Amino acid sequence: MTNENGKGTATDFDVVVVGAGFAGLVMLYRLRQIGVTARAYETGNGVGGTWFWNRYPGARCDVESMEYSYQFSPELQQEWNWTERYSAQPEILRYINHVADRFDLRRDIQLSTRVTTATYDEGNALWTVETDRGDRVTARFLVMATGCLSAANTPNFPGRDSFAGRSLHTGAWPQEGVDFTGKRVGIIGTGSSGIQSIPVIADECAHLTVFQRTPNFSVPAGNRPLTVAERDRVKAVYPEFRAANSLTPFGVNFDSTGISALAVSDDARVNEYEERWEKGGLRFLGAFVDLMFDRDANATAAEFVRDKIRSIVKDPEVAAMLTPKDVIGCKRLCSDTGYFEAFNRPNVKLVDVAADPIVEITKDGLRTQTRAFEFDTLVYATGFDAMTGALTRIDIRGKGGAKLADAWSAGPRTYLGVATVGFPNLFLVTGPGSPSVLSNMVPSVEQHAQWISSCIRDLRDRGTRSIEAQPDAQDSWVGHVNEVAGTTLYPQCNSWYLGSNVPGKPRVFMPYLGYATYVEKCNEVAANGYEGFTLG
Ligand code: NAP
Repeated sequence: MTNENGKGTATDFDVVVVGAGFAGLVMLYRLRQIGVTARAYETGNGVGGTWFWNRYPGARCDVESMEYSYQFSPELQQEWNWTERYSAQPEILRYINHVADRFDLRRDIQLSTRVTTATYDEGNALWTVETDRGDRVTARFLVMATGCLSAANTPNFPGRDSFAGRSLHTGAWPQEGVDFTGKRVGIIGTGSSGIQSIPVIADECAHLTVFQRTPNFSVPAGNRPLTVAERDRVKAVYPEFRAANSLTPFGVNFDSTGISALAVSDDARVNEYEERWEKGGLRFLGAFVDLMFDRDANATAAEFVRDKIRSIVKDPEVAAMLTPKDVIGCKRLCSDTGYFEAFNRPNVKLVDVAADPIVEITKDGLRTQTRAFEFDTLVYATGFDAMTGALTRIDIRGKGGAKLADAWSAGPRTYLGVATVGFPNLFLVTGPGSPSVLSNMVPSVEQHAQWISSCIRDLRDRGTRSIEAQPDAQDSWVGHVNEVAGTTLYPQCNSWYLGSNVPGKPRVFMPYLGYATYVEKCNEVAANGYEGFTLG
């Protein structure tokens, strides 16, 4: 038991952290640095979060390995050797496990434990946290390191449980792996997870039927082994490399040309796209600065990719079905290894379920309005209740017993994406209203862990028991997030950024675009004595 600040109510821990993925681990590391006690609860039977659960075939990061890694320890940064330009899931999971061991973080983590409720006691300024394993502990602060894409979305099709074969979700893949040899497989969904897994499953199984509701833009990943020279080049200037990336809007090196797509000749523009297509990766969107702001500029990139799809896919009817109509990058751009090529295989069939919707799952497979399909295995690559799902699925009660899910029933409202009115001493790591999914997640979780731990240290040093976002500050932040989103093309399609992939979820643009601006704002708020927060 601890007794914080030498005064106040005794608590089991100073801080409870929910989740032990990238965010939870660095949070624990930072909390230990400031000398407070912490316990992390993690649902999985291992650390790793996203990279623990998403073990589907072909799972790979689409941010380059040298950037998708921690920077809190210069030694770790120098020691670890990534083997590929884009790391595959097993390598990232090995890295996270290495970090947990190297910094002795496991002693503060309780695995295989799901937090079920968290209740704030206003009088004593403390949280009581309960788990599905019967734990009931108190802490001054509660930090939700629950991930932005961790609450699986499995559409509630009629008959969903009647399927006699095996049902799988890409975001909750069995640890022992899945053998598709000789199997007839159906897969629903063509987002990043579907696009990565389809070519690999197709290669293994007897037959694959892909159920596509919306065609997606994807660029070749251009993955390849990293050479020692490439790694050494970055390692020699790692701090400068990180600092330069942190000044960009997405906090990631998109190698932007800094010019408008409409300011160059048609030939120059196509050459730029061609070069980026050849090199591979999401830097494709760095070709021109206005791609996510100007419809005409965006249309040039979209048309380039449409032409590529038509040139890769041999059957013109299938190519037409795979060709997206909307804005490129509006739904998160995918990067793939042989996705469009997979549709040239004789064992892959594409079904357009926008034209012929799925009406039910059956014992043998599924039925659309006009046809029946049979398979042995059904894969849901149907994404996540993004950004809010992992939070609202826990019964979190703030002041006066108010439930977070109710407070956010019209969409999430936060101050800086790190705190929300009515829930004192609750911190969200990369919550809605922070750059989170519109940035490189690892630096973003590190920035939050650093900010939150400094805040807890400052409160302790001043003998302050509680911190709560002020309604005015929250309103103006939410307004600002929306205003920025309104200047972009992001709100113009149905994406999980807007919650529109989950039936009934309010349509609100959740992430904040502008990593560098955001970091500056967070630092300013702290420097001004936590401006916009009430300290008690
Ligand atoms: P997603 O992008 O939300 O894609 C889900 C897919 O399922 C969409 O094609 C969606 O169609 C479809 N779908 C959902 N409900 C459906 C229904 N009722 N009927 C038919 N189709 C349905 O999910 P995700 O692919 O798991 O990716 C989520 C995010 O995770 C990505 O955007 C990315 O940020 C991250 N991720 C990253 C990587 C990487 O680093 N390479 C890999 C995987 C995931 P609609 O488009 O019509 O809604």
